[in-house]
Amino acid sequence: ITVLFRPIDKIISVIESYPKGIAGFKRFADLMDTEPDIVDSPSARKVSDLRGDIVFDKVNFAYSDDRPILRDITLSVKAGETIALVGPSGAGKTTICSLLPRFYEIDSGAITIDGIDIRDMTQDSLRSQIGIVQQDVFMFGTSIRDNIAYGRLGATDEEIMDAARSAQFDSVIAQLPEGLDTMIGERGVKLSGGQKQRLAIARIFLKNPPILILDEATSALDTETEMQIQRALSALSEGRTTLVIAHRLATIRNADRIAVVADGRIVEEGAHDVLVAKAGAYARLHNAQFGAWAAE
Ligand code: ATP
Repeated sequence: ITVLFRPIDKIISVIESYPKGIAGFKRFADLMDTEPDIVDSPSARKVSDLRGDIVFDKVNFAYSDDRPILRDITLSVKAGETIALVGPSGAGKTTICSLLPRFYEIDSGAITIDGIDIRDMTQDSLRSQIGIVQQDVFMFGTSIRDNIAYGRLGATDEEIMDAARSAQFDSVIAQLPEGLDTMIGERGVKLSGGQKQRLAIARIFLKNPPILILDEATSALDTETEMQIQRALSALSEGRTTLVIAHRLATIRNADRIAVVADGRIVEEGAHDVLVAKAGAYARLHNAQFGAWAAE
């Protein structure tokens, strides 16, 4: 295991997921290829145990020079708070999230966590403070144990089972022929999409980062699985600063705050009720996505 994991030690926090590109998902491998572009500054320091106070201060960003994507993004998320990013497809929600682990370098402005500019942090340590859950989960063709322990190398079986329980994945393990030793992938069992997601959540419970980025699934799972994942995710976000790219009404309503992203800007921000009363961009979006208020 040591031999297997050593080379990927460094990318542990990134491999869970990867931001989407233009044509759907961007593989994390592609992202890793872009990584050497960004080099730690010589004075970068290691951070740990961040509280998770996040500030985007007048952030501008473009993937290429000719087309600005994010314009003047200013956003604060207090430690422990959950903010839902909503808005039309292509508005920039994923891009906002991918700037936090510094997958890309911003063009101007600043992003700070606990008052420290993320450019002054080593990328390894920054990413150790962030957990990401996306639809597509990276799996190794090894045991269930190793796949969960990937969240924190060297975790004991007890810690792994605790994380599995928190992620509602323990019932899956209980049904597997060899429990934690069960191999997955070509030589072993095939996990369903919902099971993989819970495994990914277990990894993050184990990693225990103060900051969470959730890219909520749009694809339909059966109701039971859906409920288990929702429960696991809300337990996971408890006490962590959470940025969620939200598609479900329940998630949006339960968030402490909603930021409406349109054409690379934040056009509205506030709690659900406040934004509804405002009858502006959020109300329109909500109507279009979830039907008229009267119909609820
Ligand atoms: P969705 O809800 O569809 O996921 P989104 O709000 O998350 O959309 P982004 O994925 O952040 O939007 O995309 C914002 C803009 O940036 C889009 O115009 C998209 O085409 C562009 N874009 C996204 N990723 C890349 C990339 N890797 N290279 C170039 N352009 C990109």
